[in-house]
Amino acid sequence: MQASAVPRKAIFLDRDGVINVKLPKDRYVSRASEFQLLPGVAEALAILKHLGYLLVVITNQRGIARGFMTDEDLGEVHGFMDRRLREWGVVLDGLYFCPHDECEYCNCRKPEPGMIVTACSDLGIDPRSSFMVGDSPSDVDAGKRAGTQTVRIGATPDDRADLTFPSLRDFATFLSRQTDGNATAPQGPRRTQTREELPT
Ligand SMILES: [Mg+2]
Ligand SMILES: [Zn+2]
Repeated sequence: MQASAVPRKAIFLDRDGVINVKLPKDRYVSRASEFQLLPGVAEALAILKHLGYLLVVITNQRGIARGFMTDEDLGEVHGFMDRRLREWGVVLDGLYFCPHDECEYCNCRKPEPGMIVTACSDLGIDPRSSFMVGDSPSDVDAGKRAGTQTVRIGATPDDRADLTFPSLRDFATFLSRQTDGNATAPQGPRRTQTREELPT
């Protein structure tokens, strides 16, 4: 029997501003103490995982090229993120980062699609059934170039993105309603059954 090669679907996640609090311009999360999960993110990721999506982080980290942090510093931050999410039962399926600066013209720094394309090839993901989710125009562009659907996280609608939501949690809720009306995260609120009225 041939090994089945059903293409998988994924949520590609920008990191800063989607998973964790973004620091002010020109500051980089270079230690665990600076990494703070945004509200509702762990629950959102649990829902998305429950819907059958792989979770793959796709992040530009030019703080490395600019000398603000090392690969090891970033590894520690990501180890911390991993542990925080595992406390919620969420296990990431992949993480790709670009350590280059704009002037290096690599093919991985978003809006280039290199990290998404590589992840699709590594993990057997069909980009068309997947979403790139980010809070910057470059996230939307990278998703479009890689052939994914695109989600902008922000307060105002982004015409270039397929969908815009104020938070990852709102996107996860939307997708769970689209995909399966009954899907709830294991940590989600329990549903209270409406008690049937007793016959009088
Ligand atoms: Mg971002
Ligand atoms: Zn790069």
